[in-house]
Amino acid sequence: MLLDNGRTAMWQDRDARDALRCIRCAACADVCPPYQVVGGHAFGYIYSGAIGLVTTRFHHGDSAAAGPLSLCVSCHACASVCPVEIPLPRQILAARAAVARGQPPSWPKRVALALWAHPRLFDAVARLAALALAPVGPRRLRALLPPSQRWRTPSLPARRPARDRLLGQSFAPARRAPWMSAALRGKTVALFLQCLADRLAPAVVRDTVRVLRACGLRVLVPPRQHCCGLPHLDSGDRERARRLARATIAALEVEADLVVTAGTSCAIAIAHDYEALMEGDPAWQARAARLAARTFDFVELLDRVVDPPALPSRGRRVAWRPFCQRVNVLGRPDAGARLLERAGYEVVEVPESDVCCGFGGAVSIEHPEVSHRIVLRALDNLKASGVTDLATENPGCLLHLQGAADAAGTPIKVHHLATLLADALWIG
Ligand code: SF4
Repeated sequence: MLLDNGRTAMWQDRDARDALRCIRCAACADVCPPYQVVGGHAFGYIYSGAIGLVTTRFHHGDSAAAGPLSLCVSCHACASVCPVEIPLPRQILAARAAVARGQPPSWPKRVALALWAHPRLFDAVARLAALALAPVGPRRLRALLPPSQRWRTPSLPARRPARDRLLGQSFAPARRAPWMSAALRGKTVALFLQCLADRLAPAVVRDTVRVLRACGLRVLVPPRQHCCGLPHLDSGDRERARRLARATIAALEVEADLVVTAGTSCAIAIAHDYEALMEGDPAWQARAARLAARTFDFVELLDRVVDPPALPSRGRRVAWRPFCQRVNVLGRPDAGARLLERAGYEVVEVPESDVCCGFGGAVSIEHPEVSHRIVLRALDNLKASGVTDLATENPGCLLHLQGAADAAGTPIKVHHLATLLADALWIG
């Protein structure tokens, strides 16, 4: 009898098959941020790092794979180094979906995912939470968290989310501003708010609108938007991810030349994941492809399309930390630094600023000790560089870094790039 240890099943699984090409070089483990802070034993079985997350369920079963799979922060660093080009991030998502079918997540996660998938209920709960938590305040709320979560100051939902001011509105381009772009003049952009920024950091959305207008764009905010479905896609809940993706596609099919969001992770999900998510449904796949072709994240739009002129120095030093998927998926890590320099900021280089901050969506909740160790490395590097202003782009990462810095008493202010650009550009 030939003992194949699950390899025949791996070959028969279209999503996992490529993993059989692995040459065991361990490069994907070396660059994996959770692996770097907890080592291979936390991955549970003989193959650790990203490849172990894909293969463990074939060698040892779904229940053995569930825990290690929840460690992945979705930074895509593994795919950027694999010498045989195994599509590890896509395989990890497929493994999570397969495992979730037989091993439902914890009940708090199930409740959160169910709530997040119902826009009206989500809205009502977010507004109630904003009212109830406002008198408590973020720092007192931190003291009420379980000890494993107290290393960060939580962000509270805004009493007035960005949607209250913006949904269904249209904003004319600025009359004059230093970055007026000939390439964009007369064009309309549809803005996707991004649910975290909408509820937890509405100023980021406001500043994004200001910068887009200052580049000569008319900004349209489609009314029926909610969440892109990324939390569900990342959690293996493909049914709800598909439902939210369809709703997002329909909401963004408005008369606009481009679609943009300051949530880089959502832009990447729309532009890179939606089409595959709609597999088996050609009509929705075509709609997903059309949306993907005109969707940009905020940073990429400005860097690729606007080509802004340089403004006078503002005499202010700022560190730039790109979203990890910008580095590993889009391959344009310096885009934000270029924009900051053009806007007159002095950009300070900080070691490892292209490594994931440890947010990873649900990872920071499910594995707070792992997330904490990763973010501490980022904060230590910032402290050593002597810089106190940090610019970043993805709202989840911004809140994660600021919350950790605040709780650690580290005097670092984390800004969305849009906020620093709005300060430099907006002249009315
Ligand atoms: S980097 Fe690629 S080849 Fe190397 S161990 Fe990971 S999956 Fe295998």
